Amino acid sequence: MYKEIYPNIFHLEVPLRNNPLKALNCYIIKGEQSLVIDTGFDTQENRDLLRKAFEDLDINPKSTRLFLTHLHSDHTGLAHYLDELGLEVYIGEVDGEFLRAMPDRNSHHWQGIIKLAELQGLEEDQLILDDHPGFKFRPKALPQLNYTSEAQSFQVAGYNFSVLDLPGHTPGLQALYEADQGLLFSGDHLLEDITPNITFWGEKYGDSLGIYLDNLDKLRTMNISKIFSSHRRLPQDHLKRIDELAYHHEERLKEVLAILEANGPSTVREVTRSMNWDIRAKDWDDFPSSQKWFAAGEAHAHLVHLREKNQIKEEQHKGLLYYSLI
Ligand SMILES: [Zn+2]
Repeated sequence: MYKEIYPNIFHLEVPLRNNPLKALNCYIIKGEQSLVIDTGFDTQENRDLLRKAFEDLDINPKSTRLFLTHLHSDHTGLAHYLDELGLEVYIGEVDGEFLRAMPDRNSHHWQGIIKLAELQGLEEDQLILDDHPGFKFRPKALPQLNYTSEAQSFQVAGYNFSVLDLPGHTPGLQALYEADQGLLFSGDHLLEDITPNITFWGEKYGDSLGIYLDNLDKLRTMNISKIFSSHRRLPQDHLKRIDELAYHHEERLKEVLAILEANGPSTVREVTRSMNWDIRAKDWDDFPSSQKWFAAGEAHAHLVHLREKNQIKEEQHKGLLYYSLI
């Protein structure tokens, strides 16, 4: 169930049932004041799993801290439950504010997502918020949140972890970094078997793909001996993996440019429909609606990145965004 994969660092595989990610890598660092990193969805199975792990490892929840790398519910789902058990919950302020807005359907967060879908042209697909995976699995209750900021540190079991801002996958993703030993708890910033999803979060959060790529580069210069990432296998050669991810996005950007060249001014929806997707659907109409939100968000992030690099222009017409070559 759990394994000590580094001195006093335990890996617990928390299942994510019916989700393509399959499982979350939850980390428990045992010490006088233990530290848990990320949680999994809020299900009875996962509640039992974590409680049992604390018992087996002889960890007192009341003197344990929970650090959340980012807002996604596969990472934060159990935070409320763990808060009830007595853990102190920590998250960066940017993602923490998102989290606070999640339970309420009428919050600026969900209303912003609906507005964005309209600008993207998704109105035609008649998507409803209830099909949005982030909405479906949103936390229904929130823990008391303590906000962390860069360079803040967590001491546990002789390790000194400092908080590192690595936005991109979400606007406020934070990692934990142990500089002496070169250990990085990367959340979803760098994954070995999955391309981290990069989506457009609205103009307030800017060019998320550009921010992500800069923060991938940031890892190149750091002393890193081991990366503890959040899904599937851990990266062995992170420099190689960074190259692969950077290449993936370069190819994606080329694909988007080729689509605009062939089709002329296009909405986000039109560009999304023309892109290749690694999904078992014969065409756009066959896409499950949950995947339409994701796909359009990803296409939009690439369009905004090209716009920021002055390779394409954006115009708004009758409530829709159009992108075209300059
Ligand atoms: Zn995530």
